[in-house]
Amino acid sequence: MVYQYDICSFLILALMLVSIFIRKLYVGKVHRMFTVFVIVVLATTIADMFSSAPLDALSEQAQRAMREAGTYFFFILHSSILPCYLIFMGLEAGTLYKFIAKKRINKIIFCAPYLIGLACVLTNPWTHAIFSIVNGEYQRGDYIIITYIIGGFYTLFSFYYLKRYHGALDRRSIIAFVSIYPYTILAVVLQYIYPNHLLEMFSYSIAVMTIMMFVIRPEETLNTSVGAKTMIAFRREIQHTYLSERDLTVFIIKVKGDAALLKLYGINMHDAIMRELVVRTAAGVRKLIPISTPINVFYLNYGLLAVSLDSRSSDDMLAEAIYDSLCEKIHTEKYDLSLEFAVCEISLPGDMKAAEDVFRFIDTFEKSSVESGEFIYRDLTQQQKIELCFDIDRYIRKAIDNRSFQMYYQPIYSVKDNKFVTAEALIRLRDDEVGFISPADFIPAAEKSGAIYEIGDFVIDSVFGFIRKAQPYGVEYIEINISAMQCMNDSFVDEVKNKLAHFGVSNKAVNFELTESASDILDDVLRRTVSQLHAEGIEFSIDDYGTGYSNLHRIMSQPIKIIKIDRSLINAMSNDKTRSVLADTIRMIKSIGIEIVAEGVETEETAQWLIDKGCDFIQGYYYAKPMPENEYLEFLKQTS
Ligand code: C2E
Ligand code: CA
Ligand code: CA
Repeated sequence: MVYQYDICSFLILALMLVSIFIRKLYVGKVHRMFTVFVIVVLATTIADMFSSAPLDALSEQAQRAMREAGTYFFFILHSSILPCYLIFMGLEAGTLYKFIAKKRINKIIFCAPYLIGLACVLTNPWTHAIFSIVNGEYQRGDYIIITYIIGGFYTLFSFYYLKRYHGALDRRSIIAFVSIYPYTILAVVLQYIYPNHLLEMFSYSIAVMTIMMFVIRPEETLNTSVGAKTMIAFRREIQHTYLSERDLTVFIIKVKGDAALLKLYGINMHDAIMRELVVRTAAGVRKLIPISTPINVFYLNYGLLAVSLDSRSSDDMLAEAIYDSLCEKIHTEKYDLSLEFAVCEISLPGDMKAAEDVFRFIDTFEKSSVESGEFIYRDLTQQQKIELCFDIDRYIRKAIDNRSFQMYYQPIYSVKDNKFVTAEALIRLRDDEVGFISPADFIPAAEKSGAIYEIGDFVIDSVFGFIRKAQPYGVEYIEINISAMQCMNDSFVDEVKNKLAHFGVSNKAVNFELTESASDILDDVLRRTVSQLHAEGIEFSIDDYGTGYSNLHRIMSQPIKIIKIDRSLINAMSNDKTRSVLADTIRMIKSIGIEIVAEGVETEETAQWLIDKGCDFIQGYYYAKPMPENEYLEFLKQTS
């Protein structure tokens, strides 16, 4: 017998097992099953060695007993290798529960061959159907073919399984999982032809090694700097939930002001804070959930954490428990920190249709301005979800595809001309399912998703196409809101030039509004675009003046024609202090030769006061609300 292969195989497997324990790779269901698989292969190898190794030192009887026992255990363990392997594969793919555990018939198909094989081996001492030891020599039994048939069955089964759920595993893993078969089939065939060469276990050890290298990737699933699982692991968990149709409760935790935290404390301290929050999150869950129930804590980056657990073991008060345990002050030697959180509970698959929806939801949850405190997604009305910006990307996409945006125009009163010589173009979105969605909600979302470019195109096309209809009524120019994102686009200047030419619109007939906060962040690129467009004869307004860190010095350094004072400042006019600040502001802006529009003017008194102080234009509900094209033209007819 050539049993050296078994010794190699033993060494490889033993080393791998040691490494699994040293690197703590046995944590989690999937890895635990892999560990079991490695142990089974290792034990089979050991049994194989006992069944074949020269044991000359022992008495003949002892040798025979050893051989007999070794072979016996070899067959028992050997018949478990492929079923273990398949269970591991199913867990890794996340489809095991759906395919095997949930369907009785599949369970029977899966288990029956294993049990039949096991029964044959267990009864072998009496039947000698599989093998016998004659004069200390191993001899195949008449029915050993059964073990080959069963092996063949599980091989075909795993191919079917991999094909059926091919989307559930990535390519690397599929290749690694399939690679076991060529090795072992070759080894089994060779060993059948040359029964003295015990190659089979060696081929298994190579297969185990391949899987260890390509499938077991803790670095992808564990973020050691914060002590939680990674975003990749989270994605997998969610995808597995949908594939296997099990019920999962997920808590998403948002640390408010995470960006500021990172900026203020730096990466190391930020990691330390997150690490503490991970510990607290787990502790919060454990207040209500026994330690025997598996939970997963994930760090999804950008101040987002997630916890998942089987819905059956979840608890109604869990969101609150997590929230409470997070809100306690963080004490360290150097600082005490109180943070704010929003905890959101979702039940899958009930709350969302597909795994992709969950990821989109988390994205918008991160962007949204949810109040601190906990809340449960399913209790929200559709409109509330919109207001919280959940799912907003979907409605934007739908509106772009169905062309359901519309431009409204809000007339702006010119004090000097005593009529409405200009208007602001404001976009509207009415969704057939959920009704009106405010641009204040969807524009920021569109900026983040990139949809702003298509929206921007629509705005420019429809306003440029409309201007000529308003000009006969004395409209000099239309104010168009431009997102800083659009200005960042290198081709923006050319596009505007082309569109002016295409629609036959004069550059004097449009004015672009940029928000003050935009000019704050993107100084250089913005400056270039603004000056290029200004060179083309297009004027600019600074929008929402007074909401950011107003810096007249910087505004002065750019070719700005108009400043629009924000509604919030105008609204606060009842306060004496604001009133005097406002008067000073108006004086200051006028002194540098920039025109002023006061926004959000709702009463005659306010309008009069602003006119007295020298504002050039007044915009607000007092004069007119934003209205669709036809109404606006009608309005102009009556006022011009
Ligand atoms: P904004 O540029 O500051 O627009 C003025 C907002 O104030 C408009 O809200 C307008 O309807 C509202 N408003 C006007 N007069 C009054 C008033 O007297 N009282 C009150 N309470 N509100 C008044 P809207 O249309 O909801 O737009 C919100 C924001 O969405 C805009 O703020 C602007 O930043 C953005 N936006 C709107 N249309 C567009 C667009 O076509 N492109 C881009 N990039 N952003 C847009
Ligand atoms: Ca505006
Ligand atoms: Ca504004």
